[in-house]
Amino acid sequence: MSLDIQNLTKKFGNQTALNNINISISDTEIIGLLGPNGAGKSTLMKSIVGALKIEEGAIIFNGKNIVEHEIECKRRMGFLPENNPLYPEMYVKEYLAFVADIHQVSKERIDEVIELVGITPEKSKKISQLSKGYKQRVGLAQAILHAPDLLILDEPTNGLDPNQILEIRNVIRQIGQEKTVILSTHIMQEVEALCSRVILIHEGNIIQDSPVREFKGKYESLEEAFANYTHS
Ligand code: ADP
Repeated sequence: MSLDIQNLTKKFGNQTALNNINISISDTEIIGLLGPNGAGKSTLMKSIVGALKIEEGAIIFNGKNIVEHEIECKRRMGFLPENNPLYPEMYVKEYLAFVADIHQVSKERIDEVIELVGITPEKSKKISQLSKGYKQRVGLAQAILHAPDLLILDEPTNGLDPNQILEIRNVIRQIGQEKTVILSTHIMQEVEALCSRVILIHEGNIIQDSPVREFKGKYESLEEAFANYTHS
């Protein structure tokens, strides 16, 4: 897996959401994407997965420009958007079969993923009947069903209770052993628990891109480091 983001700029009207972003990723690792609300995290994630039009700069995934090789690149990426959009009226297994069909993935793989994300007891329920934690697992399941090389997760533990957070983190940690994961989060504990590298965005600019230990640097905690880097 390789991802190269080159001079990526994204503007909404006269507002610059991403300002000349450059990122290079080639390792199998879990990367924490940090930044205050409105920093540009979701815009960056949506740009990588091809959900937003690239207007300035380029994103090269596995050596291919994502605009020129859109379908091919999308086949190798998984995305869990913010707020985990699902079809509440569908049954879990029905929904995953629908997604599997889109990706032309075998029925056996559905069972494998159901097992991996720990939703076996819930697989026959309607999505609307699931707890938020289980819904999140279904969201994760759809993102990894086609065994992507790169997994992008926008605030995957947002709104979960402490037990659900630990459970989802365990699933992400397991996935991160084999795949590259980029996840956005506001929880510094999550960064310490999961990530090896941190990319900090502030007002559309990359302020830091370093191993977690370096990011923490001279500060007492990641929270303190974050506050200092983003203090304007
Ligand atoms: P984050 O995910 O870090 O909270 P976003 O990427 O969602 O930040 O937003 C970055 C900036 O771009 C914000 O100021 C936001 O209001 C703006 N923005 C995001 N999406 C749109 C859009 N579709 N139209 C207009 N402005 C947008």
